[in-house]
Amino acid sequence: MLSNSLIELDRDHWIHPVASYRGHEKAGVRVLRSAKGATITDAEGRQLIDGFAGLWCVNAGYGQESIVEAAANQMRELAYATGYFGLGSEPAIRLAAELAERAPGDLKRVYFTLGGSDAVDSTVRFIRYYQQARGKPQKDQFISIEQGYHGSSTVGAGLTALPAFHAGFGVPYDWQHKIPSHYTYRNPVGSDPAAVIAASLAALKAKVDEVGGAERVAAFYCEPIQGSGGVLVPPPGWVKAMRDLCAELDILFVADEVITGFGRTGPLFACEDEGIVPDLMTTAKGLTSGYVPMGAVLMSQKVYDVIADGSGAAAVGHGYTYSAHPVSAAVGLEVLRLYENGLLENGRKAGARLMAGLESLSDHPLVGEVRGRGMLAAVELVTDKAKKTPLPAASAPAQRVFDRAWNNGLVIRAFGNGVLGYAPPLCCTEAEIDAIVERTRKTLDETLADPDVRAAMA
Ligand code: PLP
Repeated sequence: MLSNSLIELDRDHWIHPVASYRGHEKAGVRVLRSAKGATITDAEGRQLIDGFAGLWCVNAGYGQESIVEAAANQMRELAYATGYFGLGSEPAIRLAAELAERAPGDLKRVYFTLGGSDAVDSTVRFIRYYQQARGKPQKDQFISIEQGYHGSSTVGAGLTALPAFHAGFGVPYDWQHKIPSHYTYRNPVGSDPAAVIAASLAALKAKVDEVGGAERVAAFYCEPIQGSGGVLVPPPGWVKAMRDLCAELDILFVADEVITGFGRTGPLFACEDEGIVPDLMTTAKGLTSGYVPMGAVLMSQKVYDVIADGSGAAAVGHGYTYSAHPVSAAVGLEVLRLYENGLLENGRKAGARLMAGLESLSDHPLVGEVRGRGMLAAVELVTDKAKKTPLPAASAPAQRVFDRAWNNGLVIRAFGNGVLGYAPPLCCTEAEIDAIVERTRKTLDETLADPDVRAAMA
């Protein structure tokens, strides 16, 4: 009953993010009621393992009392403090310092945002300012990667390269350019790591030339693992090679770690996997484990100094009412403590088990590729392994697979072309990881029995 009336209210009023509006009105909302650890309970009392940590964000798992207490205590003590007028709160100052201490290299400066999209937006503003301040205003072109996702603000959506974020929205802008993804499973140069790296380096050089040379290019953006494009893992050495080329060309390298940050791939930041230091890094999601909204731009001391000196006594006009919100910062501090008191460690063990478990599905007739690192993984489905034929679009693979997994007690992300995405909370137990794999196998078996899929395989 409760659920029925909520479905009607939702249908009539709530505009959902990234949804087919008419499709959602017809399907109706699935109401979530509560969650603990890695298990969520819906309004009907159905229990599901959250194999996607909400939206790749609830790294610490749900219902962690110490996080709840940190937020409640901060609300009682000082519910709000602005960073304007030279003011600040203790948790915001401490969180900035703690992040700077743990971030790679000279990423010593931290700018707090409300999430990932405005973190990306902030980098674009800072980078334009930086290039102006160092006397290179003509460096105003930005390059990112096909299948990349950099948020849903107007500027970030233009750096994003997923069709739904462009169609009808008038982006990308003419200063936003793309190079092909490394997507090793479907790369025209094949999957050999050296060939893929060489192709990406050549593509970046060619794009730089095309837009007028390095003296026109401000920055290059990439995710250490492309998330929303289908969990596309570059070959080892790819991120370092791209970073080095950017340094050589005097192009700022921005690592978008909104998904990969905070233990998702094993270390605190995925950049550590290749020992690289970006000029700027964007983070969000795992920063507060999704309990409250917050993002952060980590900026190198070098970039910061150019902006600081360039602005002189004038204010750098970039800020939000909720920048460095003290409640979010208090949550961030507690979440950081949890990472270092077992959560990262558990995530590494669980990640190895998840990858091994998913790889055991490789012999399934529908599984074309299993890929991932740590607690970030994908299973790409095909109807013909040799030809790598995607599932038939007519079978609405994403929705049907999502629904089957849901009915099997598992929440995963199902990307449009039949790629299953996994990003479970780092607190998952071995039994929960095994259940994710088992429920996936059942979901694959049911998908194999789908008449549209069978027809495509015949
Ligand atoms: N950048 C990346 C790599 C992301 O995956 C996301 C969100 O998924 C964003 C930016 C945008 O973050 P938010 O949804 O918090 O605005």
